[in-house]
Amino acid sequence: MKRFTQIVTVALLLLVGFTPLFAGGQEESDAQIVGVAMPTQSSQRWIQDGGFMKEILEERGYEVDLQYAEDNIDAQVSQIENMIVKGADVLVIAAIDGAALFNVLEQAAANDVKIISYDRLIINSPHVSYYATFDNFKVGVQQGGYIVEALDLASGAGPFNIELFAGSPDDTNAYYFFDGAMSELQPYIDSDQLNVVSGQTDFDQVATLRWDGQVAQQRMDNILAAFYTDTDVHAVLSPYDGLSIGILSALKSVGYGSAKDIPIVTGQDAEVPSMKSILAGEQAHTVFKDTRTLARRAADMVDAVLQGVEPEINDTTTYDNNIKVVPSFLEEPVSVDITNWEEALIDTGYYTMEDLGL
Ligand code: BGC
Repeated sequence: MKRFTQIVTVALLLLVGFTPLFAGGQEESDAQIVGVAMPTQSSQRWIQDGGFMKEILEERGYEVDLQYAEDNIDAQVSQIENMIVKGADVLVIAAIDGAALFNVLEQAAANDVKIISYDRLIINSPHVSYYATFDNFKVGVQQGGYIVEALDLASGAGPFNIELFAGSPDDTNAYYFFDGAMSELQPYIDSDQLNVVSGQTDFDQVATLRWDGQVAQQRMDNILAAFYTDTDVHAVLSPYDGLSIGILSALKSVGYGSAKDIPIVTGQDAEVPSMKSILAGEQAHTVFKDTRTLARRAADMVDAVLQGVEPEINDTTTYDNNIKVVPSFLEEPVSVDITNWEEALIDTGYYTMEDLGL
């Protein structure tokens, strides 16, 4: 009996002693860790980007550390620092401010952590291996081109009144969107078929810090009060749905959509509130960027950097981050309005009818 008790005790001790070691050892040696740093949960698109990234990377066997920084630059920097400390092998980053990550990326590189720029280009750092994004200039072309078509400018129609909005000046995408849109609109401004009544046409005058919808609403309120008391606005270039919703609120508060026609307002991201607005005949347009496709593309880049092979890239000239041209893959944006939303968003399984309140 004594001998039996001894054997059981030794067996128990071994079990107790070895179990945590075994479990801990397995965790540490197995899954590689990917830190995914997203800018904010205040916009639906980033929630989807983060969700899809986590899902796809976990399916591929990675451990994922997904963090949102609520548009606070310091918070994003410390989230990335934490990821490095916790042993991340790769970082996938959608920066709040593309120029604010220099130091933390030096730290990442010193720890041999690979870096992939997600949707927004990280500038001034030599350590960005690859960039997964959409064709950002083309997004702008689709926005500006939509206004050109809706107002039938190519047939000589006009003059019409237009106001311009751009995105956040610390996000390189904002410049590509604006330049793309102006490549379509400028010829008609020059021919006086489009009249920017406020006179605000420079990027710096029309930019919207942190893509903040309330800032856009306030600017639209001011423009309407100062320049549109005895004339109407016919189109508003908006680069992002969150701004479009703010701009539409300002317009509706002075009678557009009731006493007078609502102007053509563009957008981007096909977010649910804007899709509902399009269905209600308010916002005219948006650009759908399938975040599932982008997440898969970034996951392929993660695989490649860890295996030491080249991922598929389709652009090696456009995205100069001031230190180097970052090899990129540009996905295709899709222009969406009331005529093709079902094909673009429902048939592809991105939304269900219920998601859109239908
Ligand atoms: C993204 C857009 C988005 C905007 C605001 C940009 O960097 O490319 O899709 O509308 O940020 O979040």
